[in-house]
Amino acid sequence: MILIDGNKISAEIKEEIALEVQQMKKRGEKTPHLVAIIVGHDGASETYVGHKEKSCKQVGFDSTVLRFEDTVTEKELLETVDKLNNDPAIDGFIMQLPLPKHISEQKVIEAIDPKKDVDGFHPINLGRIVIGLPAYVSATPAGIIELFKRYKIETSGKNVVVIGRSNIVGKPISILLSQKANPGDATVTLTHSRTKNLKDIVSKADIVIAALGQPEFLTAEMLKEGAVVIDVGITRIKSENTKSGWKLIGDVKFDEVSKKASFITPVPGGVGPMTIVSLLQNTLKAAKGEIYPK
Ligand code: NDP
Repeated sequence: MILIDGNKISAEIKEEIALEVQQMKKRGEKTPHLVAIIVGHDGASETYVGHKEKSCKQVGFDSTVLRFEDTVTEKELLETVDKLNNDPAIDGFIMQLPLPKHISEQKVIEAIDPKKDVDGFHPINLGRIVIGLPAYVSATPAGIIELFKRYKIETSGKNVVVIGRSNIVGKPISILLSQKANPGDATVTLTHSRTKNLKDIVSKADIVIAALGQPEFLTAEMLKEGAVVIDVGITRIKSENTKSGWKLIGDVKFDEVSKKASFITPVPGGVGPMTIVSLLQNTLKAAKGEIYPK
C-alpha cells in the first residue's frame, strides 16, 4: 500500500509556485493577488481563510481578506463583488461559504466574473469543464487530479466510483475523470444517498472517491483488493487524545481499508492540503491569463 501524502505534494507545489512568483517579480510582472471575502465569524471559515492567507504569503502572493459582519446586506456584498470584478489589481477572489441565510449564495457566486472565479464555483466555469474547455476547476477536484498525476495513478479505462454528488466535489471530479484526458478516460459511476446496491457498485471499483461526509463509511469488506482510495470526507469529532480536544475523521475506515488498498489518502494530510494549493494554482493561472487570456 502506498500512502498518498498530500502534505508532501502540497509543499512541493508551493515551492514550485514560489519559484515562479519570484521569476515573475524579477521580470517586473505584477504579483498575483488573491482576495478572500468572509462574512460573519464561523469558526471553520475563519480557519480556512487563515490557512489561505498564510499560504499566499508563503508563495509570495499579495493577499487581502475583506471581512463583513453577518448583518451585511446582499446588495452590499454584490457591490463588493462588482468592485473586485472591475479592479485590475485583483487577479482572483473567493467568497468563503456558507453565507448567512438572508443572502443568496447562488446570486453572489453568479455575480463573480468567471475570469476571477478562482474557486471555480461559477456555472460558466463548471459548464466549460463539462465540454472540456479551459476553466478554473474547483479546488478539491483539482487537488485530486493533481494527486493522480504526481503518484502516476492510471485512470484510463478504470472503473471509478464517486460517492457523493455535491457541486464542489462529487460532480466535478466525476466529469473530470470521464473526460478524454490524462488523468481521465475512466468509466465513472456517480453515486449518492438514493443509489441502490452501493456495496455491489463499490466492490467493482478500481478507484473509489469517498465524498459523502459520513465518518468511516467505506469499509474493507466493500472494497476490491488493490483498489485506489481517495478520502475527501472531513468530520470533526471530540477527542480526549488531542491537544485541541478535536480530531478529524474521513469517510474511510482507514485502518482496515489501508490493508486492502493499493493507494490511499489519509485524513488529515491527504486531499485537505491539496485544496488550498489548488486555489493558489488557480490564482497563478489567473495572474498569467492562462485560462482566460487578458
Ligand atoms: P455534501 O455534504 O454537499 O453532500 C454529500 C453527498 O453525499 C450528497 O450527494 C449525498 O447524497 C451523499 N451521501 C450522503 N450520505 C450518503 C450515503 N449513506 N450513501 C451514499 N451517498 C451519500 O458534500 P461535500 O462534497 O460538500 O462534502 C462531502 C465531505 O467532504 C464532507 O465531509 C466535507 O467536509 C468534505 N470536504 C472536504 C474537502 C477537503 O478539502 N478535503 C473539501 C470539501 C468537502 P444526496 O445528494 O442524495 O443527498
